[in-house]
Amino acid sequence: MKNLSLKYLLDWSACEKATVLSILTIPMFAFFMLWTWGSWHFTEFGQTYFSAEGVRLNLIVVCAGMVGWFLLAGVGLWLRAKRRSPPYFATIMVVYYGLSLVPVVYVIGIATPLTGGILLGAPLVGFIMFGFRDVMWSVVLNLIGAGTLTALTSLGYIPYAPLFRPDVGLQYLSEPYWMLSLLAFVTPLILTAFGITYSLLTRWHAREAEALKMSLTDYLTGASNRRAVLDVIQTELTSVRKDSRPFVVAILDLDHFKQVNDTYGHEVGDRVLVGVVQCLEGALRDSDSIGRYGGEEFVLVLPGTDGATAIQVIERVRTAMSELRFDVGDGREVGVSASYGLYVVEGEPGSPEPSMEDLLMWADEALYEAKAAGRDCFRIWQPGSGNTAGQDVQTQKTPHSGGVSCWP
Ligand code: GH3
Ligand code: MG
Ligand code: MG
Repeated sequence: MKNLSLKYLLDWSACEKATVLSILTIPMFAFFMLWTWGSWHFTEFGQTYFSAEGVRLNLIVVCAGMVGWFLLAGVGLWLRAKRRSPPYFATIMVVYYGLSLVPVVYVIGIATPLTGGILLGAPLVGFIMFGFRDVMWSVVLNLIGAGTLTALTSLGYIPYAPLFRPDVGLQYLSEPYWMLSLLAFVTPLILTAFGITYSLLTRWHAREAEALKMSLTDYLTGASNRRAVLDVIQTELTSVRKDSRPFVVAILDLDHFKQVNDTYGHEVGDRVLVGVVQCLEGALRDSDSIGRYGGEEFVLVLPGTDGATAIQVIERVRTAMSELRFDVGDGREVGVSASYGLYVVEGEPGSPEPSMEDLLMWADEALYEAKAAGRDCFRIWQPGSGNTAGQDVQTQKTPHSGGVSCWP
């Protein structure tokens, strides 16, 4: 079910958003109405500056506007109940926003912060919540409306701010009551624009982080993808020059993995790949990186690790992998092994610094040697070893040595 909490406001349909905004606008109009009526009857400000016709006119435009908002809110709720979402509903709502507010703004005075709040806030909120087309209609109509009223006022055809008595001039502008009232008018507009912009930015940042994560993660296994793990190697190569800290790159390739797919199906093959990554995560430190290099090939990056430590680490990984079992139905289980090719970047001053391409090529050559040596073992590439075969570190083979084993 769609999440209707306010946090997800921007994910609602245009119709739902328009309904919520219609409902939220009703209190704003109610406030205008109460303010006019209350100020006229109960404040010295109203009694001093308001004109009776102005109050009547303001109450008429505010009440008429509010009736429209009630209608829109009602229709919106009815459409939601009927699970209908006509595209023109949001357009009507956005256009009506301007139509209902321009007369109110005219009656209380067009040269007030309220006009600025509406002319700036409404398109801002509108563009974020709805499409460009809907809001453009409203912006154009608002500008035409506000422009026409301003022109007519300037030419003397209609009075400026008819809410106020013509004989008091603009004295009311400096009254604290008026200034506080204006503040109360624009605050909800500013808060709405602020809230919606904040919601948009939060969503934007979350999506950006999600997109970045997806671009660096292997979809099936959740390990880093090739690009991400190559970035890690590049970072290590850069820091090895600064810190003289060794690190190890290991390429591991599952043994006879094709057999797993061919015998038990692709779905089991996928489960094995996921299980292997979990096993690697369990056997390695948090600071180590695991990346899926290709189909059933993974790259491990072990920062701050020298050759002797790398042997212990790979043995730990090999042992952990030998204990893995995957259910293949009928009470049977399958286990897998991998071969490993290692390259150690010594990080000692004066020692040659390989390029990333060389480093991966040599680790791959060592992997090839491990495969040739019978699988389920590792080789470390060493310079000057002629055929580039790694140092001959013979490892203890597990019972299901060299590939896929099945129990019972
Ligand atoms: P070797 O010991 O020489 O590495 O033998 P192998 O069978 O592992 O090597 P080969 O390159 O012949 O086969 C790799 C297999 O990995 C073939 C391919 O179907 C499988 N594979 C690659 N990616 C995926 C994947 O995402 N899911 C599954 N289930 N299988 C995959
Ligand atoms: Mg392979
Ligand atoms: Mg393989």
